[in-house]
Order: sequence, then C-alpha cells, then structure tokens
Amino acid sequence: MKSTKDIAELLDEPACEHNKKEKSGCAKPKPGSAAGGCAFDGAQIALLPIADVAHIVHGPIACAGSSWDNRGTRSSGAQLYRIGMTTDLTEQDIIMGRSEKRLLHSIKQAIDSYQPPAVFIYNTCVPALVGDDLNAVCKSAEELWGVPVVPIDCAGFYGTKNLGNRIAGDAMVKHVIGTREPDSLPVGSERDGITVHDVNLVGEYNIAGEFWHVLPLLDELGLRVLCTLSGDARFREVQTMHKAEVNMMVCSKAMVNVARKLQSSYGTPWFEGSFYGITDTSQSLRDFARAINDADLTARTEALIAREEARIRELLIPWKERLNGKRVLLFTGGVKSWSVISALQDLGMVVVATGTKKSTEEDKARIRELMGEETMMIDDGSPKALLKVVKDYKADILIAGGRNMYTALKAKVPFLDINQEREFGYAGYAGMLELVRQLSLTIESPVWPAVRARAPWKSEKVA
Ligand code: SF4
Repeated sequence: MKSTKDIAELLDEPACEHNKKEKSGCAKPKPGSAAGGCAFDGAQIALLPIADVAHIVHGPIACAGSSWDNRGTRSSGAQLYRIGMTTDLTEQDIIMGRSEKRLLHSIKQAIDSYQPPAVFIYNTCVPALVGDDLNAVCKSAEELWGVPVVPIDCAGFYGTKNLGNRIAGDAMVKHVIGTREPDSLPVGSERDGITVHDVNLVGEYNIAGEFWHVLPLLDELGLRVLCTLSGDARFREVQTMHKAEVNMMVCSKAMVNVARKLQSSYGTPWFEGSFYGITDTSQSLRDFARAINDADLTARTEALIAREEARIRELLIPWKERLNGKRVLLFTGGVKSWSVISALQDLGMVVVATGTKKSTEEDKARIRELMGEETMMIDDGSPKALLKVVKDYKADILIAGGRNMYTALKAKVPFLDINQEREFGYAGYAGMLELVRQLSLTIESPVWPAVRARAPWKSEKVA
C-alpha cells in the first residue's frame, strides 16, 4: 500500500502550473461517486490501451466489472487488452487471508492462457486495506515464470482519477521505461536525405483509431513513433521510451509526470500539443521540428503543412457553408475544452460557452486566449444548467460526453459525443472531415423538425 508520503509526492507535480496554488492538484473524491472517478479507474484507463499486456484487476468483481473497456481505444493488432481479468476477491478470500495466493494463481492463469509479454496488476481498495504485499507477489511471479509483472498500486481511496493517471505513469517510469533498446530501422526503409528522428506521444489514446489519421504524416516527415503512451501501444514499445528525442504531451494533465521524469532522467525535451483542428495539428507538427531543431525537417514540415492545409481547406468548403455561424455549447473537460474550440472556430462555428469542470488553470488560460476574456465557462454540468445555457444562448448543438446524451435528446437538442466512448476519430487533418460530417449530419437530421413539431393529432380540431 502507498504511504501518505508517496501520495504527497505524486500530487506535488512541478510541471503543473497550478501546482503551487492547489497542492492536491484535484478535487476531493465524493462518497458514492467512485465509479469513473477513483484512482484505480484513472490508472486503468491510462494503461489499458497497451494492447498486448494482460491487465489483471486485483480486487472484488465490482472494481473491474464497473470500469472495464470504458474507452473506445483501438488496437492495430493485439486484442488481449479487451479481455477483462480480475482476481474476483470474495469475503471468504479476505477472511481466510488468501487474496495474495489468488493473485499469484491469477497471474499464472493469464500467462499460461495467453503468453503475454507482461502482466500489469492493478491494486484496489480491499487488498490495499487488508495489506496485500503487491510488490512481493509481482516479484515472486516474475521469478517463477520469467515474465515481467508490473505492480500498479492504485487503490481507489488514494484519490481521484487524475492521481490514478499519475500513479500509472509513475509505474511505467519506475518499472518499464528504459528496460529495452529500440529496434534498429528496418533494412531498406532509408530515404535519401531524410534523417529519422525518434519521438513519443504521451497521453494519446487512439480513441476510435483517430491517431491513424496523424501517423502517416509523422511517417512522411521521418518521425518514428517509438511509443504512444498508451493508444495502440505494445509493452516492448513502452520499454524503449527513454530513447526518444522529444516527447509530445497530448493531454495536458493526465501523465505530465512521465514527460517531466523522462526529461530529468534522460534529458528528453517535451511540449504540449493537440491534434484537434487544422491550426493545432499544424502547430504540433511545427513543434516537433522546432524541438528536434533539424533545418531540413523544418523545411519539409512547412511544405507538408502547406500541402495538407490547402487540401483539407478545399475539402471543407462545402461543409463550412453548411456549418458557418452555427452555435455550439461545448461541455467537455481537460485538454478537449480548448483544443476542440480551435477546431470548431476553424469551421466558422460560434462556441457560445465551454465546460471547464475538469480543466486545469492552463486549460482555462488557453480557452480565454481563444475565446476572449469574457468567455462563459460552465462548471455546473447538471442537466438543468446545461439546458438553460442551450436555451439562453440559442445553441444549435450540444457537444459533450456520452452521459449528457439523454439530457440533450430528451430536450430535442442535437447532440454530438466528443468523449472517449465516441465512435468516430476527429484527430488530424483527416479527422476534421469526419468532424464536419458528423456535425452536419447531427444538426441537419430531419428528426429535429419532426420531434419539435406539434403532433398532428394535437393540431387537428376535434369535431
Ligand atoms: S478501487 Fe475502490 S473506489 Fe475504485 S472501484 Fe474499486 S472499490 Fe471502488
């Protein structure tokens, strides 16, 4: 179990601008709101996309059952991450003191059944409270079966989801990163005059496969992605992250400790960016070139940006005409609260207000930069408050997470899912096309005039 000192160290994150202001870095957990918000959940969603690892949740069935596979992350090959594994502790296991034994057997079963390159063990509240020695069991299992077994001590009561993200990142830095050297470049892959540079993306989850919109651009530029922590990642890729020349933090808050620790241990510079919207995608590509400081790469990056921007702007013309001036209420959190604004502004849409419940001070500063000082930021995500803003500001569409879908639909307001459960990828230049398509289909759907119209039997006069 983590000591108070360990947790305090994780909460003290110098790379966070608001670190001095609020030591905890996150809101206090509220009783009854554990699902979707505890440290275990945060750690698991941060690492679950590592596709070839056996992810075992050590705890009662509810911990795994309530949170498994809750992100629409995609893998280009291995599918082991889709199998929910848990030690399924019962009262009997706790009373008889056999939870550690159960864990050891579970690790063996996972290795025998699936031969994974590694096993990750997620600690939860019950085994942490009874005092299971997670590190000792993982070490014994590793010695017995020769497979890396990584303890992720993330009991839910340690804190919030955000702390769980950091615990996950910390476990990768401590136990995985730096344990293998990257493969050499495949023979015959050299291109005249192009030097290949190795890079990482931290906090990119490949939701709905959206990173595959961006990867071909990086390939073209000669940027080899050693690892995306953790979308479509493999264990062997995470092991090599220490060798990148630069790290891009894709989500400002989630695993900033990984980028900072890689910088202090291996001297790897990092920057924060986003692939949502034309402007931000171009900026992120430029930032790679700037951080690597290769004149040839900079020139090729500018040429690629000019070509891609021209191509996508051409393709967007008919869609922009349909969406221009449409008013949006954006209710999402974190990095999306500002990165999606930029994408919507690229389309000529008006963002009337944005949700900032889960946004950091940096996120809010960026929102002000994009939308002006007077911008409306909403903290209250209750259905009543959201619908009031929709009505008062005459929003044409609510863009939010899946949990707000029924709020919008019951109020007959067009709705687009922007969070991790979404079905469509919006990253990169190609993602913009998907975004406009989905926005247009949603706003222009014939269902809205139909459901808003007075029912025919109500308008007919009774004879
Ligand atoms: S880890 Fe703890 S808080 Fe999180 S789901 Fe399990 S029991 Fe609930």
